[in-house]
Amino acid sequence: MNPPVRVLYLAGSGRSGSTLVTTVLGQYAGVFAAGELRYLWQRGEVENRPCGCGLPLRDCPLWGEVRRDLPTDRAAAIAAGLRGRLRMRGLPALLRRHRRGRRPVPAHPDDAALADLYTAVARHTGARVVVDSSKLPPYGALVGALPGIELRVLHLVRDPRATAFSWRRRRGLDGDTDPELMSRPPVWKAALLWLVWNTVTVRLWGDRAPTGYLRVRYEDLTADPEPTLRRILGFAGVDADGGPFTGPATVRLAPTHSVAGNPSRHRTGPVPVAADVQWRRDLSRWSYALVTVLTAAGLRRFGYPWRRGGPAAAGGSAGSGRSAAGRSVAVGQEEG
Ligand SMILES: [Zn+2]
Repeated sequence: MNPPVRVLYLAGSGRSGSTLVTTVLGQYAGVFAAGELRYLWQRGEVENRPCGCGLPLRDCPLWGEVRRDLPTDRAAAIAAGLRGRLRMRGLPALLRRHRRGRRPVPAHPDDAALADLYTAVARHTGARVVVDSSKLPPYGALVGALPGIELRVLHLVRDPRATAFSWRRRRGLDGDTDPELMSRPPVWKAALLWLVWNTVTVRLWGDRAPTGYLRVRYEDLTADPEPTLRRILGFAGVDADGGPFTGPATVRLAPTHSVAGNPSRHRTGPVPVAADVQWRRDLSRWSYALVTVLTAAGLRRFGYPWRRGGPAAAGGSAGSGRSAAGRSVAVGQEEG
């Protein structure tokens, strides 16, 4: 019997820095940055979109090895099955099953193929930790229940006004030349999705801290990058030596083989780890107010201020001289 595959699952809402965290983690020995594995079947296998290394997925040598162990001829059906099982409207039932100690996402014949994916990735990369930045909590719950997987959940949270602003930007799915755009939900919807996914992440895994759940805010990560990364590595059980940091807030990135995700996963070379704070200037007052009201419960829980530039705005702008020492990374307090 093989030891379980350790999966570091990045959970939460989109546009919270998960792509950067995944790429940086992938630079450490023993870690494989797999990207958003829930999209492997559709965007990778069916649509043959680029791997993080730049090659179409089916031409990437590494994924070629992994794919040999998978039922790739059934990729479209597996993708459709996943979409059906992870629908938003199934969320109340999912949480009910979780509360009753049952499997949150019921078993399905495709589960064997999904489990094989993680096993094959670990086997062909030799990684001790596979980073899956799929984010969607129901998919994380599904993966956590697969046989042979040890799930550790990294919950990344970012100020919802920033994520709502980021969602509205026009971005090609795989870079600026891609005619297919990343989804652009309206501000109210981005706000509600932020609240739902972050609340559900805490509900599903918040009580597993400190060994199974770690919460990190984007603002704390960008204010204090290397110590925060060390903390994440410690949580994942990875040696922090020999990482990509060339300065306190600069990393040198080699290409990864990550699937799907934000187009920034293709960035290589020296990259600053700095907060993107354009929203502070450019998010309209109306949008700011709307997101603030809709996410009020979450703002309090995750320590974000009501007012623009309010006192609890940890992180702040890149290069601000404030000491980060007093702002510890919020490590999974038990919350409802
Ligand atoms: Zn590749």
